[in-house]
Amino acid sequence: AQQTDVTRWPIHVEVRLNAKASARFDTIRSLVHTFVMSHDRIGIPSVPEGWQDLPELASSVEIINICEAPCPKQSLSTEEVILHVHVYQPADGDSFEEFSNDSGGRDDGDTMTASVCELPNKSWDGLWNSLIYADDIKLKMLDYIHATLLLSDASVDFNLVSWNRVVLLYGPPGTGKTSFCRALAQKLSIRLSHRYSHARLLEINSHSLFSKWFSESGKLVQRLFNSINELIEEEDAFVVVLIDEVESLTAARAGAMAGTEPSDGLRVVNALLTQLDKLKHRKNVLIMSTSNLVKAIDSAFIDRADIIQFIDLPTREAIYEILRSCLCEIISKGIVVPAIIPTLKQAQMFEVLAKAGQDYASKPDDPHEEQIYLALRIMKLASQCRSQNMSGRALRRLPVLALSRYLGLGTQRPRDAVQHNVLVQGAADIVI
Ligand code: ADP
Repeated sequence: AQQTDVTRWPIHVEVRLNAKASARFDTIRSLVHTFVMSHDRIGIPSVPEGWQDLPELASSVEIINICEAPCPKQSLSTEEVILHVHVYQPADGDSFEEFSNDSGGRDDGDTMTASVCELPNKSWDGLWNSLIYADDIKLKMLDYIHATLLLSDASVDFNLVSWNRVVLLYGPPGTGKTSFCRALAQKLSIRLSHRYSHARLLEINSHSLFSKWFSESGKLVQRLFNSINELIEEEDAFVVVLIDEVESLTAARAGAMAGTEPSDGLRVVNALLTQLDKLKHRKNVLIMSTSNLVKAIDSAFIDRADIIQFIDLPTREAIYEILRSCLCEIISKGIVVPAIIPTLKQAQMFEVLAKAGQDYASKPDDPHEEQIYLALRIMKLASQCRSQNMSGRALRRLPVLALSRYLGLGTQRPRDAVQHNVLVQGAADIVI
């Protein structure tokens, strides 16, 4: 009864509508709120079921996601939560506009330097959940953005407390940096939909921007920032600018210093940095950049980044989760025989028991023992992948290689579902 003593956690619920949905967002929001609060406990995170029985939700909603939160429990009672329900209808994946370096009339095939897409976008749905990191990098980034919004809203004096709205992610290739930027942009567009009626992601490929004719790059930078300024002119539009491979910016400047590049290069880089500086006074823009080589990045750029986050190769635990998500997906599509793949927590528990002397390998025919055996097998594979320094990208490709190798053996009929342990063994053979 003493409800005032209860700690209440802000919990975000994201509701994706289908393309045909015509119900008002407000109506859906309050129906979902009532639906979620009708449960005794709420899983954090979870994908609740049962809303399909309510006709108004069934006709409009595609999925309800109760998002992860930094709370210490796996489930909360309704008294312990403050629900924030966000309703969104993603734009079609192909609503892209492209900017290209066509002003000089040259045609070299790959001059695409920037693209814009509407957010939230179908292409980036599910990306956030698919990215697995050992520590709470994802929530940390969300918190940072919330902090800047809070300060902007309070109209804090920029001379006293200031930030540049620039985030830099760096680390080895294939660790999901670009994907994370897109996923974060998508997440923000959903979470901020109550204050910004629309959102856009503008991606700049610095490599193609700086690798060719600097005199044209100069014009291109100008055009790019004209477009960005047009986009953020609308105060109810939120704009995320993603600058990929930001180290090429530096290469251009260093080259100019050493006299090997025309001084145009230097002017272009300076123009870009000046334009970035101008953006820091705008509330509705966020600049995210990625780099594989932090040592090679222009110090002037590093100086402007508020958050410099290292993204490392996945740990053994993250690898287990990534491999598990790959396996679950191909099982759900009927390519591999059905099986329940234990969660990371379960697998870790089985490992402790196995170390304490349990011999699971002896009876893999018992369905329960089979699950344990499989978990231990994937854990071992995860260790092997870790010692080979495999990136997230390489891990997501592993099932394809294992499957193709298996099919290449030609011992089974093409339509037979694959045995999971055979696939895992195939993957292990590739990794070693
Ligand atoms: P980067 O920009 O660091 O080179 P990308 O964003 O291009 O990496 O990542 C390529 C793909 O690799 C992603 O789409 C994703 O499928 C996979 N991937 C990379 N890192 C992870 C991770 N930590 N968790 C899950 N998937 C990952």
